[in-house]
Amino acid sequence: MRFVSFEKNGKTAVGCLVPHEDTIINLTEAGLPDDLSSLVEMGDSGFTLARKAAETGERIALSDTRLLAPFPRPRRNIICVGKNYFEHSKEFEKSGFDSTSGGQTIPDAPVIFTKAPTSVSGPGEPIPASSDPSHSTDYEGELAVVIGRSGRNIAKDEAFDYVCGYTIINDVTARNLQQLHKQWFLGKSLDGFCPMGPCFITADEIKDVRALNIATRVNGELRQQACVKDLIFDIPTIIETVSSLLTIIPGDIIATGTPAGVGIGFSPPKFLQPGDKVVIEIDHIGVLENPVT
Ligand code: MG
Repeated sequence: MRFVSFEKNGKTAVGCLVPHEDTIINLTEAGLPDDLSSLVEMGDSGFTLARKAAETGERIALSDTRLLAPFPRPRRNIICVGKNYFEHSKEFEKSGFDSTSGGQTIPDAPVIFTKAPTSVSGPGEPIPASSDPSHSTDYEGELAVVIGRSGRNIAKDEAFDYVCGYTIINDVTARNLQQLHKQWFLGKSLDGFCPMGPCFITADEIKDVRALNIATRVNGELRQQACVKDLIFDIPTIIETVSSLLTIIPGDIIATGTPAGVGIGFSPPKFLQPGDKVVIEIDHIGVLENPVT
């Protein structure tokens, strides 16, 4: 199923997209929670109830709603992986903006940081580059994994049992702040610096996540293009690493890293400017589009 969060007449609700139609079925009206984090926390029973509710729920034209991020306010910080595509790791190292690498292009272990839940915004919402005091706003198209079960010390071969689905995020970054603070949290956590969506797709809809292609366009120009199989540290390795140290919980969102082609990969850097439009597309999940203001 493809779940969305949306607003209609001032009310927030969870719905599912009707395949091949511009229609949403309102699952909240049918008795399900009005936030997707709560639905995910219900585990398989939540998805079973959603499937049942989808059979009879109220249908609404997509155009009569405002789509929100599928998880507009995650329960915890979004867990992110840095430097996780080889070519991107090289371009980041070369750009001079990486103050943490110590000259090492390929990390020995996954580079983990987080973004504040308040950075999340929805499809179509503006990326506020003008609020970046360092005038160095950059885009990072990424596949995000959503955790469906609580777990600790998860082995790689069991990792996908803990994944309930996927979405797209733009790990927007103020590069000069990322460099200045020698730690990435602040430069990646500005309000509106984590566009997410357009939907949350359940894992059963994706045959092979490694085969998904990701593409980012700025003003129609193709900037990033890669396949998930090119990740340096794959999804099982990321889950094994994180869960070896802390408990992961339902609703956790893990952004898996961005491919080469970010703004600082160019010389001079191509930072986002008001009036730009960033479009990220991942096979089967959809298209996340945001204007820059
Ligand atoms: Mg990133």
